[in-house]
Amino acid sequence: LADGVAAPRLTREPFIRVEQIGKRYGSRDGGTVDAVETVSFSIAEGEFVSVVGPSGCGKTTLLKIIGGLLEPSSGTISYGGLEAGRKRPRLGMVFQDAVLLPWRTVLQNVSLPIEVMRRDAAAGVSLARDLIDLVGLKGFEDKYPNELSGGMQQRASIARALVHDPAILLMDEPFGALDAQTRTVLQEEVSRLRRQMNYTVLFITHSVEEAVYLGDRVVVMSRRPGHIKAEIAIPRNAGWRGKEIEDAGNHRDFNEVRRHIWELVRSEIVRE
Ligand code: ADP
Repeated sequence: LADGVAAPRLTREPFIRVEQIGKRYGSRDGGTVDAVETVSFSIAEGEFVSVVGPSGCGKTTLLKIIGGLLEPSSGTISYGGLEAGRKRPRLGMVFQDAVLLPWRTVLQNVSLPIEVMRRDAAAGVSLARDLIDLVGLKGFEDKYPNELSGGMQQRASIARALVHDPAILLMDEPFGALDAQTRTVLQEEVSRLRRQMNYTVLFITHSVEEAVYLGDRVVVMSRRPGHIKAEIAIPRNAGWRGKEIEDAGNHRDFNEVRRHIWELVRSEIVRE
């Protein structure tokens, strides 16, 4: 798969450009921890970028910095195509835990961002219903979170992240807490959603298989302090696209890329 492992080239304008980002945390004993250093990369509009790397290498730190939840210690982030008056684009976030409000129904949870942003409520609810359909929760609009399985809760949180039409979706291990079967189904759903809607996504995962299956590009981070070790472009027309994960796993090119990336990650894992 020669073109599958070539250095990626952005064909579109960078939409998010991260330049020389570093983050130093204060540690409890009064020392410091350098979580990431000199991280630079770009995300184009409509691109799905997966980030993999050993545990503790600063993936979540990076996502939070891009999402504006955390200030970097050094470096800059710039965003393209901003609406007038905005410092950063509208972001949708999905974390490992769905964090739905237990006293609100699925529909009320999904439409919450519309209420918070004081958007047109009727239009918001109608969009929320469409998204609930899209993520496969039709018929569960009036259920409460404790009536849903973990996978269904995560579907609801994906719909909620999309309801205010984010320019970029930030996903941090969104399937990390799910059982293997549910995880597989949701990976396929996100792949389908992505092909249908062409969202821009930054997706953090421990799973190299998931990163390759979903991504247009896989960014591999080194051990802490995390920096970018490699970026691998995954062709959009790769033979396994649109297939179920099981079938992708039988595809020679898929396995070649997966193995290549896994070797890169493995060499960064520090033996305890
Ligand atoms: P990853 O997501 O790759 O597992 P994180 O970004 O969560 O990595 O963490 C990177 C490093 O920074 C880890 O060593 C972690 O312990 C440390 N770290 C993360 N958050 C804080 C914090 N708020 N204060 C101090 N250290 C932190």
